[in-house]
Amino acid sequence: MNDKKLPRINMSSPDLTEAERQAVISVVETRYLSMGPQVRAFEAAFRDLFDFKHAIAVNSGTAGLHLCVRAAGIGAGDYVITTPFSFIASSNVLLYENAVPVFVDIDPETGNIDTRMAAAAAKDLQTGGAAAQRWLPRRGVAGGGVLKAILPVDVFGQPADYAALQAIADTSGIKLIEDSCEALGSTYKNRPAGALGDYGVFAFYPNKQITTGEGGMIVTNDDQAAEFMLALRNQGRAPDDTWLRHTYLGYNYRLDEMSAAIGAVQMTRLDDLLKAREQVADWYNQRLANVAGVEIPHILPETTRMSWFVYVIRLDSGVQRDTIAARLTERGVPVRPYFAPIHLQPFMMERFGCQPGDFPVTEDLGARGLALPFSGKMTEDEVERVCQTLQEAL
Ligand SMILES: *Cc1c(COP(=O)(O)O)cnc(C)c1O
Repeated sequence: MNDKKLPRINMSSPDLTEAERQAVISVVETRYLSMGPQVRAFEAAFRDLFDFKHAIAVNSGTAGLHLCVRAAGIGAGDYVITTPFSFIASSNVLLYENAVPVFVDIDPETGNIDTRMAAAAAKDLQTGGAAAQRWLPRRGVAGGGVLKAILPVDVFGQPADYAALQAIADTSGIKLIEDSCEALGSTYKNRPAGALGDYGVFAFYPNKQITTGEGGMIVTNDDQAAEFMLALRNQGRAPDDTWLRHTYLGYNYRLDEMSAAIGAVQMTRLDDLLKAREQVADWYNQRLANVAGVEIPHILPETTRMSWFVYVIRLDSGVQRDTIAARLTERGVPVRPYFAPIHLQPFMMERFGCQPGDFPVTEDLGARGLALPFSGKMTEDEVERVCQTLQEAL
């Protein structure tokens, strides 16, 4: 097959230039490899671009979400409403504090939290007793927990329905933690992702819209929470603490200066990076709109700007997704099933007694979703090759 001569298509690619390389070199020529000016500049870029009051750089998106969980006062036995259609980190940060993820299913179009179910769950959990019981996991829960927060995920870059979610948070008097790790640059009704709850978190792993290698950013307008999270990031040192005095139980969640320097340059290029990704998504959308057996992503009118993190298609129910995936991989087109439902991960089944069938929409989308190669560096020819290969495989 002459396919073999074609260059390999990458699943994702960071988009780095000479400017990022120079920025790293400049840092290593100084004495400041941590807690220096680059982190401050990277944080300032977030505050300036999106009008966030506080931006706190951390060394991963997971670390950022964990600090939000602490800031929201979520502790052992507390309930947090979230979804099992996500990357594992959004639930794990609850388990770090021995809180209980109360899963609700998702909207079948977007994969985002089903807000009607979230509202019903919030009401029942606050009522307690048998009403609460129907939302709780089969085991691993003491019962009598307190509902503290909702943690929605902006799936694949598309913001959840925050008008509905804010109403639930207000009615219930609970916090709203936005996992916007996939949504840097998206807007919901012209408001930026990350600013749609009490706290938002971005992530900068190499496949994200911008990268720092590893890294994350918390954004919030809450002064008290920001001060607390800054302390926890830095081993629990409160503003008046000395190097060896620790007011709180904290962590080393600091971002280093080399990573921050890359991030600061990436932020100056953000609009171009997002436009390049949008162009690639547009090519895919046009090319796949009328391919039988393939469903392209649904973008809602409320998503006034879509920042594309991944390009995930859904195959029709009759199609053997894993067979198609294997054929594509064989022909040099890497693809990934996306997402694997969190409630069916081995440790989650073990701990909470989750079972197949518990969240049918999550499981359906999980079984039919296929992430195609995607980055802002892809060419139209590469997109064509992926689509051609996909059609042949089908
Ligand atoms: C990427 C991502 C995170 C954070 O990942 P890190 O690897 O810790 O930076 C969290 N939630 C979602 C939904 C993500 O996609």
